[in-house]
Amino acid sequence: MIFLVRDSLESVAGVPESIGFIFSFLFGATIGSFLNVVIHRVPNEESIVFPNSACPRCGNAIKAYDNIPILSWMILGGKCRKCKEPISSRYPAVELLTALLFVLVYWQIGFGPFLPVVLVFVSTMIALIFIDSEHMILPNVITYPLLGLALLIRIIFPNFFAGQYVSDMNVWPISQLSGSSPVIQSAAGAVLGAVVGGGFLWLVGELWKRLRGVDAMGLGDVKMMAAVGALLGWRLTLLSIFLGAFSGALIGVFLIARQKDRDFQTQVPFGIFLGIGSIVSILFGDRLIAWYLSTFMLG
Ligand SMILES: [Zn+2]
Repeated sequence: MIFLVRDSLESVAGVPESIGFIFSFLFGATIGSFLNVVIHRVPNEESIVFPNSACPRCGNAIKAYDNIPILSWMILGGKCRKCKEPISSRYPAVELLTALLFVLVYWQIGFGPFLPVVLVFVSTMIALIFIDSEHMILPNVITYPLLGLALLIRIIFPNFFAGQYVSDMNVWPISQLSGSSPVIQSAAGAVLGAVVGGGFLWLVGELWKRLRGVDAMGLGDVKMMAAVGALLGWRLTLLSIFLGAFSGALIGVFLIARQKDRDFQTQVPFGIFLGIGSIVSILFGDRLIAWYLSTFMLG
């Protein structure tokens, strides 16, 4: 994605920019609260709409005033109001993280048509990161809709907005299609991105299986990166994988070094790092690549 012009709320609606940041934080905290429900229920194949949240131990329905993002957990001292069972600090952590990321997204993207797309993308990545860290799965009910949504956006956006949102259209090989319509270019970029993202992860998994005889990589990673690739295009997707592998390797070495019996088979939920890499990539990827090329390739 390239954001040539960052539309501020001030320039679009005449509302002070600080309002945009405050609203982003509050909206993010609320979405974070919903993501907690997704993270908790989707791996168990429960409905994310019904029933209302309840204490897992005593079954006490959580009242609206005890369900205020971040604040309620602090006010209750991290315990259920009724049975005093500790409530995981993951709940306020996800809410705070989502709130801060929404502020970051608003700061980077501004008040424009691509803002909701990036907010949905980042929210989905947060859900996948936390589900993978806890259950070592990346559920199809999240990765498939993300892939569908990505393809839809890549087909719809060029009809309404100039191609500036999709940076891979200016890059080989999609740039070769410059004679065809923006929709064709954008869709081709999406398909290429999905094949590169999913294909890369599939190849790594296959190689690993041949070399080590263990099935270390689930197909969840393949589907996740196919979806990321469809939205971001091949360049930013390879960057996401690179950033993910880099941060994953750093943390993996740290974890193995801390282990008493050095067991290198330790399975690392790679989706966490792919998710982090993808968030960095959608927000800063084009600038990172431009900086890299100008520093190491052209200069
Ligand atoms: Zn309780």
